[in-house]
Amino acid sequence: MSEQEFKRALGYANSAFDLLKRSSIPPYPQFYELLYTYATGVNPTLNNRINAIFRNGDSPSANLAEALYNEFLKSDVNDRMSNVSERMHARIEAVHEAIDTAMTTANAYSGSLQSASGDLERDISPEAMKTLAERLLSETRRMQDTNRALEQKLEASRDDIASLQRDLDDVRRESLLDPLTKIANRKSFDEGMEAAIAEARENGTPLCLMIVDIDHFKNFNDTYGHQTGDQVLRLVAMTLKSNIKGKDLAARYGGEEFVAILPSTDIEGAVIVAENIRRAIQAKELLKRSTNEKLGRITASFGVAAYQPGDTVSMLIERADRCLYAAKHAGRNRVVSESELEALQVQLPQIQGISAA
Ligand code: GH3
Ligand code: MG
Ligand code: MG
Repeated sequence: MSEQEFKRALGYANSAFDLLKRSSIPPYPQFYELLYTYATGVNPTLNNRINAIFRNGDSPSANLAEALYNEFLKSDVNDRMSNVSERMHARIEAVHEAIDTAMTTANAYSGSLQSASGDLERDISPEAMKTLAERLLSETRRMQDTNRALEQKLEASRDDIASLQRDLDDVRRESLLDPLTKIANRKSFDEGMEAAIAEARENGTPLCLMIVDIDHFKNFNDTYGHQTGDQVLRLVAMTLKSNIKGKDLAARYGGEEFVAILPSTDIEGAVIVAENIRRAIQAKELLKRSTNEKLGRITASFGVAAYQPGDTVSMLIERADRCLYAAKHAGRNRVVSESELEALQVQLPQIQGISAA
């Protein structure tokens, strides 16, 4: 963490703490997290809701804070993970118990067999033989019962473990999706990018990365509200997803920025894909769902970079980001690839190291 980042985080922490002290919300960790998130401003919809409360001259109550926390921050995935893990634990305990019982019964049975064999070595009367046979029979039955019970428990466990496995798969799948747009999230992008680079490195196949940033999206939100802005984010995500195929991966990188990993694609191919997406976004006439009000159109800018041997994930992202910055600089609503950077006569030293707007 750089000193600048540290200072920024400390600033957020201080303002979250100030808000906590001034409000009637109990200073529990989850409410600190809520107000810290508010202080960062990363979630405009959450901030709008809290701002509306402050505008009314109120301060969020504990109940409202709880509701906001549940809606915006509480991770359903975490809850479900711990539920699966508790069930897994209970199931393992039950199997252990059944095995213990079966072992105790088996030991007792083996003891009985041994003592019976001792009795048989001696001369015993027919009555004693009968009693012995009856005892062995009843103990064999008990042993059979215990075995059956163990079998049933193991069978139930097998079904339960299969359902736990499905739940775990669901939780894992969801943990890789962006909740708003339902396309891959940053975490799956990070994983996908590592894998794509490893593959390009091993097989010598081409690989491109595309970064997309919606143009003047702040204006759009300010004009039509964040709920409508969220609809637009969904629309852009779907447009991205429907214009890629095969092993490509489209993900929400954060806020109003998206990325697409394009394996086995050279820079010319990647520019064509980006152009298609750019045109498709521009072609959409936006309508407000609730009122059918026409909202005009939005555009997006694109940066496209190609993997070069020796690239790390962050090197490739940085180059795509630089192209995106050049696309914004050159007037937005356009695709800039690495090969075009120079032709655009953007002064590289000026933009080097600066991340996209
Ligand atoms: P530029 O063309 O330079 O990219 O301008 P911009 O306004 O798009 O860029 P800027 O980075 O200034 O603002 C990004 C805006 O994106 C800020 C915020 O209003 C909006 N935004 C980010 N995340 C979300 C979100 O989850 N929902 C909504 N509705 N808006 C978001
Ligand atoms: Mg933008
Ligand atoms: Mg942006």
